[in-house]
Formats: sequence, C-alpha cells, structure tokens
Amino acid sequence: MKHEVYRSRYWNIDQCTIPVGKVTILADFCKGGEDCDDCIRLCPEKVLERSTVANERGFFPPLVIEEDKCTVCGRCQLYCSENAIFIEKIGERTVNAEEIAAREEN
Ligand code: SF4
Ligand code: SF4
Repeated sequence: MKHEVYRSRYWNIDQCTIPVGKVTILADFCKGGEDCDDCIRLCPEKVLERSTVANERGFFPPLVIEEDKCTVCGRCQLYCSENAIFIEKIGERTVNAEEIAAREEN
C-alpha cells in the first residue's frame, strides 16, 4: 500500500514537498493494547509504538517515537474509534530523490 502510494505520487521527479505533522494523543480516551493498536499498525511511517504504561482505564496508549516523520496522512486519526489521536500540520519539508528512492524500497 505504502509503496504504491509513493510511487504514484513521486514517479519521475527529483524532489517534492511533503507535510510535517504534530501528533496529539488523549491517552485516557485510548483503548489501546491487545484489542486495538490500530493507529500503530496503520501508520505508514512507523511514528507510533505502544506505551508500556497503562492509562487510567488500564489500556496502553500509543507513544510518539518519530514525530518528525509524520506526513499528516490522517490514517491514525481516521481509524481511531475512540477519538484519542489527532494530527495537525505544522510545516513542510523537502524530500529529495534519495529519500524518494528509499521510500520506494520499503
Ligand atoms: S487507534 Fe485510538 S484507541 Fe486504538 S490504540 Fe490508537 S489511539 Fe488508542
Ligand atoms: S497522520 Fe499518518 S503518518 Fe502521521 S502518525 Fe498518523 S498514520 Fe502516522
């Protein structure tokens, strides 16, 4: 899925500009752990991982481990059934040909 998305957007170009996002997690809304982790699983940039610390309801919310990699694709926010994760665009960055090629390899 990721491979096809990047290939269709970046085919035959040397560089492009992509959005950079800020991730906000409302940890106590989250029902993460064995029964969810949808945001972690669906993030194409591997921005998130499961916390080892439970929230007040005993669930394990995601942690942001690679925030500068968030491309504001919105998947985590879209698929979170608990409205526990929000994304906002805070800037843009240039992706060069080398990174485009590396992304296509993944
Ligand atoms: S998708 Fe929502 S409820 Fe599920 S782990 Fe992520 S933040 Fe928590
Ligand atoms: S918006 Fe996309 S890239 Fe950013 S954390 Fe959510 S799923 Fe990952």
